[in-house]
Amino acid sequence: MLSTMQDVPLTVTRILDHGVRVHGTSQITTWTGEGDPHRRTFAETGARVAQLAHALHDDLGIRGDDRVATLMWNNAEHVEAYFAAPAMGAVLHTLNLRLPAEQLTWIVRHAADRVIIVNGSLLPLLAPLLPGLETVEHLVVSGPGDRSLLDGARPQVHEYEDLIAGKPTTYDWPELDERQAAAMCYTSGTTGDPKGVVYSHRSIYLHSMQVNMTQSMGLTDADTSLVVVPQFHVNAWGLPHATFMTGVNMLMPDRFLQPAPLAAMIESERPTHAAAVPTIWQGLLAELTARPRDVSTLTQVTIGGSACPPSLMKAFDDLGMRVCHAWGMTETSPLGTVARPPAHVEPGSDEEFAYRLTQGRFPAGVEARLTGPGGEQLPWDGKSAGELEVRGNWIAGAYYGGADADGEPLRPEDKFSEDGWLKTGDVGTISPDGFLTLTDRAKDVIKSGGEWISSVDLENALMSHPDVAEAAVVAVPDDKWGERPLATVVLKEGSSADFETLRDFLAEKVAKWQLPERWTIVPAVPKTSVGKFDKKVLRKQYADGDLDVTQL
Ligand code: ADP
Repeated sequence: MLSTMQDVPLTVTRILDHGVRVHGTSQITTWTGEGDPHRRTFAETGARVAQLAHALHDDLGIRGDDRVATLMWNNAEHVEAYFAAPAMGAVLHTLNLRLPAEQLTWIVRHAADRVIIVNGSLLPLLAPLLPGLETVEHLVVSGPGDRSLLDGARPQVHEYEDLIAGKPTTYDWPELDERQAAAMCYTSGTTGDPKGVVYSHRSIYLHSMQVNMTQSMGLTDADTSLVVVPQFHVNAWGLPHATFMTGVNMLMPDRFLQPAPLAAMIESERPTHAAAVPTIWQGLLAELTARPRDVSTLTQVTIGGSACPPSLMKAFDDLGMRVCHAWGMTETSPLGTVARPPAHVEPGSDEEFAYRLTQGRFPAGVEARLTGPGGEQLPWDGKSAGELEVRGNWIAGAYYGGADADGEPLRPEDKFSEDGWLKTGDVGTISPDGFLTLTDRAKDVIKSGGEWISSVDLENALMSHPDVAEAAVVAVPDDKWGERPLATVVLKEGSSADFETLRDFLAEKVAKWQLPERWTIVPAVPKTSVGKFDKKVLRKQYADGDLDVTQL
């Protein structure tokens, strides 16, 4: 029997219409560094989205599934592009401005972007690449920056505000197939070449509902979310879409991502929620410790992208900023799990803290399984560790076309199982009540004499030492054991802790056979384009003999 229910396509257009109509007074505030921040309501944003769509269609000739790329910070205009391109049926392609030049060029060509909307402040980065970006016909420049860098550039150059000025403030949006592409994002390539993930209208709609669930971020129109996680990194974890569903106000930092301006915007704009990777919060913590501010409104901080060190969670708790840990990846839109402890645990107890440190619980909509080294399914017993595989309606089932754009979708064997599940490359356990604990990335785990050592456990233990600012542990070749851990440590300013002291401290927390013999001090841990520890670089530095290693 067929159901008797209506079937209305789940589209980004509907999210936009809803936000504009029902939450028209909610605001997007963009930090400007000096002077007043810039404020725009959802209703005003809706009018400008329509104007931008007219400009893209009428003036720049965008049709069908043409790609409209953005090279932008988090700001109100970027949100406009987020809605205009998908709602008119085109595909938004967010470019990661921290990628090396060759990767950025490769990605633009691979996606065959026709337009790039770019913040003026990023022209020094984009201008030198233009000769290699043959598919790009138009540049639309927004915000302050030196336009003369584009003198003689091949693509046509337009001013964002001039382009949309005078255009109609409504648009007769086409009715779209919900399975059609709405946006695309390339993985940041922490562990290999970038790969294009293409989100559908439907996947974005369903993911946005998930972000909004109480057991997820659970925000309402009484909240203001400080969206630090870049819009070029997995759609800012879905926040620009999710907020239009529920009327959550957005506070956008633009290019002011350093600890001092972040502290200043929290104090003056009083957000209730914020989202970013641990590195950002480590920086903010140091800033707030050195120069305390009133951050009392900020009571919920979503941390993901890499494991949240327990020391960071504790320190934030002490400041009244409750951390909520989450796990996800570009391929999962990104929200996979969120660590909200179950109702039966005592608030403030060690048990509660242990639950909060897990990567979190799987929501309805994300199915999970653990696969052992021989391909066997492992139980959810909180002990058996295997590779995490997931499936669901906001999980990628393939990557965007092979060597050339519009090629067949790619389904590499190491990324997708034969029966279509995504192999995450993350290793961990799942408890009987559905909480995921990651012990490592498959590629980072240290395989020592037939046993696995978790690099993350060693890092967390080291980072809980008062003299340690940051620590990364990588596997290095060892004649006897195959691989052994190398500890790279960044000491806090003025600290003089020696390796013996650190090793003795670690010995209280991990098994003796896991203790690193090789130690080195570095000025900073190398980071990827999205602020994660770049272990590829550390491994190479070690192999090239570029690190000053002490053997204990
Ligand atoms: P990349 O693979 O280029 O780093 P992603 O940003 O998609 O790109 O990264 C996803 C990966 O980040 C996950 O597979 C996982 O290894 C890691 N990750 C994300 N969130 C967490 C978390 N809360 N704890 C530990 N690792 C995490």
